[in-house]
Amino acid sequence: MSLVPISALTPAALTEATWDDIRPLYQELVDRPMDAGTIETWLADWSRLEEVVTEAAAIAMIAYTCDTADPAKEAAHLRFSAEILPRMEELEVELAQRLLDSGFTRPDLSVSIARFRTAAELFRQENVPLNTEIEEHSARYQKLTGGLTVSWDGVEKTLPELQPYLQATDRGLRERAFRATCDRYAAVQADLASLFDVLFDLRVRIARNAGFADYESYAFRSKCRFDYTPADCRRFHEAVEAVVAPAVERVMHRRRERMGLDTLRPWDTGPDPEGREPIRPFRKVSELIDGSRAVLGHVAPAFGRQFQIMMDEGLLDLDVRKGKAPGGYCETLQHRGRPFIFMNAVGVLDDVSTLLHEAGHAFHAFEAHAQPLVWQRHPSLEMCELASMSMELLASPYLGRSSGGFFTEQELARARVEHLEDVLVTLSHVASVDAFQSWISTGGEGRDAAARDQAWLRVRSRFERGIDWSGLERERITRWYRQLHIFLYPYYYIEYGIAQVGALQIWRNSLRDRAAAVARYRGALALGNTRSLPELYRAAGVEFTFDVKVIGELVALVEEELERWYGASAAA
Ligand SMILES: [Zn+2]
Repeated sequence: MSLVPISALTPAALTEATWDDIRPLYQELVDRPMDAGTIETWLADWSRLEEVVTEAAAIAMIAYTCDTADPAKEAAHLRFSAEILPRMEELEVELAQRLLDSGFTRPDLSVSIARFRTAAELFRQENVPLNTEIEEHSARYQKLTGGLTVSWDGVEKTLPELQPYLQATDRGLRERAFRATCDRYAAVQADLASLFDVLFDLRVRIARNAGFADYESYAFRSKCRFDYTPADCRRFHEAVEAVVAPAVERVMHRRRERMGLDTLRPWDTGPDPEGREPIRPFRKVSELIDGSRAVLGHVAPAFGRQFQIMMDEGLLDLDVRKGKAPGGYCETLQHRGRPFIFMNAVGVLDDVSTLLHEAGHAFHAFEAHAQPLVWQRHPSLEMCELASMSMELLASPYLGRSSGGFFTEQELARARVEHLEDVLVTLSHVASVDAFQSWISTGGEGRDAAARDQAWLRVRSRFERGIDWSGLERERITRWYRQLHIFLYPYYYIEYGIAQVGALQIWRNSLRDRAAAVARYRGALALGNTRSLPELYRAAGVEFTFDVKVIGELVALVEEELERWYGASAAA
């Protein structure tokens, strides 16, 4: 395949492409003469090439995560992620440098240009092979954790398939499922720890090569965190410790009393505290899809239409199957202007929230696609997670059957309680993961597996209160090994905390004026990446903040709302 004009190139034409096929297309953009009169055409061509190649890579990644056991799909995914994309990024640095050298600027590209400048400043040739190595080792994390199964009453089950047992009313059954999950991770813990050491060493080398003393300062720069610092994150940890952790403790205390237990053990956090069977919002994935379609249409008719497009075009892979990678994600096909949602639904309440969450990302992709250039569409994660977490909250009033959703009146109350309690628990969890990663990078002992595990226990007990973990240190330690972000996407986590604080503000606004809050939310999504984070948050009608006072007020609102729903959820 040689030099098809960029305007005629499609992702399908690149399915089998190697770097040798793609390199000349980038090289042409590197070599093409360019001046003030032609730079916009040059930018548009580059954007289109980027769209097409990243979409072909996304299609290969989707095919692999949907079927990790197929060697051909794995090879295609690796061809893109380990061979093509890193080399492409190398030439993109040259393209970005040409753009920077030209002095070209435009207000709706200023965030993108600042990102290019940062990437150019951080680029080191010697880091290219190190990043390739990281990609290869990252595939090992998926392999070590994706295929884990346990023998359960003589039947082989995946770990996601054990999730429903953690919500069972039978305490012994819950404990067995909890221990089976932890034991399975403990059995691969040594492998995961040495994998982490390899990744840690590679990342430290990358940071040093780029002139940074530790990985944390490198991570903040390379993630283009222009609007906050590690000190702001420490303020966030302190705020969570001061106002969220005590609220979590109250939630756990109430749960322990409702359950009539002397101590609340980690396997007691999942079930209904009144001893009722878990809510089964759907039996078949088709019911999950139809219900979500109805609920999202109530938030805004446009969201219902966009979700319908995803249904019609096969852009949802939601059921659990052996060999599928764990977790859930939403990936954007940049050329088609379509999102794809991946998850492992087993019929629990969490599946509904996960799909609503990913739908928020999907609507972001739809709305931002109106921006002409690929870099103008995808803001950083603090904004992306605002889109998804807000959708969980904005959709919550419509989850009842009377709106075409999933729940009876009482189930709706139970679901609201679970969601709002989870918001508090998640803020604590985010602070744990972020503070732990900060310790790994800056504490001096991040390379020591035993010290790392002990640090996790210390950090965890700062934020996770009200649960009795005595005698379960080994099980508690496995928790961080299950946090794939720490392995695959280091420092990608505080975004969830920042975004939750933003999402809670959007929800607060919606309690005052629903239509206005949704309209501002949609408007902010459509801005894509054309404004700074504080400006995007302002456009959505909220504040970009780490302030303990704001966080404290939002926690108070969540607790007030919880009190209202507790009554309705407990009524027999
Ligand atoms: Zn998300």
